[in-house]
Amino acid sequence: MPAGVNSPVRAFGSVGGQPLFYDRASGCCFHDADGRKFVDYVNSWGPLILGHAHPSVVEAVKTAAGKGMSYGAPCAGEVELAELVVDTVPFLEMIRFVSSGTEAVMSAVRLARGITGRDAIVKFTGCYHGHADYLLVAAGSGLATFGTPSSAGVPASSAGHTLLLPLDDETAFRTLMAEHGSEIAAVIIEGIPANNGLLPQSQAFVDALSEECTRHGAMLIFDEVITGFRLGPQGAAGHYGIIPDLVTYGKVIGGGMPVGAYGGKREHMERLAPLGPVYQAGTLSGNPVAMAAGTATLRELLAHDGHAWKRLDALGARLENGIRDVFAAHDLPWSVVRRGSILWMALQEGPAPVTAEAIDADAADRYAKLHSALLDRSVYLAPSAYEVAFVSTAHDETVIDQTIEAFGEAIEEIGGQNF
Ligand code: PMP
Repeated sequence: MPAGVNSPVRAFGSVGGQPLFYDRASGCCFHDADGRKFVDYVNSWGPLILGHAHPSVVEAVKTAAGKGMSYGAPCAGEVELAELVVDTVPFLEMIRFVSSGTEAVMSAVRLARGITGRDAIVKFTGCYHGHADYLLVAAGSGLATFGTPSSAGVPASSAGHTLLLPLDDETAFRTLMAEHGSEIAAVIIEGIPANNGLLPQSQAFVDALSEECTRHGAMLIFDEVITGFRLGPQGAAGHYGIIPDLVTYGKVIGGGMPVGAYGGKREHMERLAPLGPVYQAGTLSGNPVAMAAGTATLRELLAHDGHAWKRLDALGARLENGIRDVFAAHDLPWSVVRRGSILWMALQEGPAPVTAEAIDADAADRYAKLHSALLDRSVYLAPSAYEVAFVSTAHDETVIDQTIEAFGEAIEEIGGQNF
């Protein structure tokens, strides 16, 4: 396997050192292959909102697996999860399951293009939407530009249908839509951008996206692969009170199994094959074992009036405040950004950034030191300064307080305000 990994960020390239090999995990902790135990704030990059190996999820998976690993044909498990999702998210009328977030986004973009008959899409710098060719793009020079490939192997012609804009710039967005609105199939944004730091967008900016899309007949795609069912039952769309035309899910909706999904209004979703002309298919789509994991996860979250999300928010706040206090005690002018159980540290002076461009490149070196000092204290943060931390319902006050203590010690060791 190239670099020993099956997904690049796992290789520890940006923090240095060797990646940890997981051996087994349960609750908020895992053991690595050398027998050491860590508190996990990566949680498989977001899916494990209930922590590792949650008993009801494991039980559901065992039962489903005992009845067959894959059918490639309709089964009750798909209907159960589809109904659960559609009943929970008021603006969703139909959903289709796929096997990853990348696939969900690719399919939603194709559907938007099929519905509008347009090719161009608008994407925001710093948002990650999976690794489809036309989404691996970097901005050229100038404010609103057609993208250029950000990965080798992506044809310029694929990237050339993607218009890139900075986040948080309502004027740039409205200007682009005034000039090109009639050519735009879709505007895609992460529910709350969480792949390049955590960059919460203002209500006004999100409202502007929705308004301009409606005005110009472009489809607003909310990519809720991270935020879906994590921020609350209605994800970031619920948080902002907006109704996207299409929404994409992944991570939490699969409870740790490979699941993605996309959905929207019936009139839009019925444009998909076999009812409509937009083709999309999958051998393992709606896999019964994966559906069982997703259903068990959502049922746990929705039980007791959604108490789990309140708990996640309280745990997140405890961690946020604790880390902020540690920074303050060492006169470090840094910020902690949090939405619910998603947390990110901006290791730089000044207000927390809300655009990719505002992130200080030096923060990555500071993060690498902090990451390594925390690993020495059995706290596992994402091996990249740009990735967020996730709290699960399996974390508790004691573990969070121990983590905060570890932060204090780590910063002392690195040299407090001098680093
Ligand atoms: N969209 C968003 C917002 C994501 O965070 C990710 C993955 N981190 C993806 C899409 C792609 O999902 P996957 O890795 O499951 O293909």
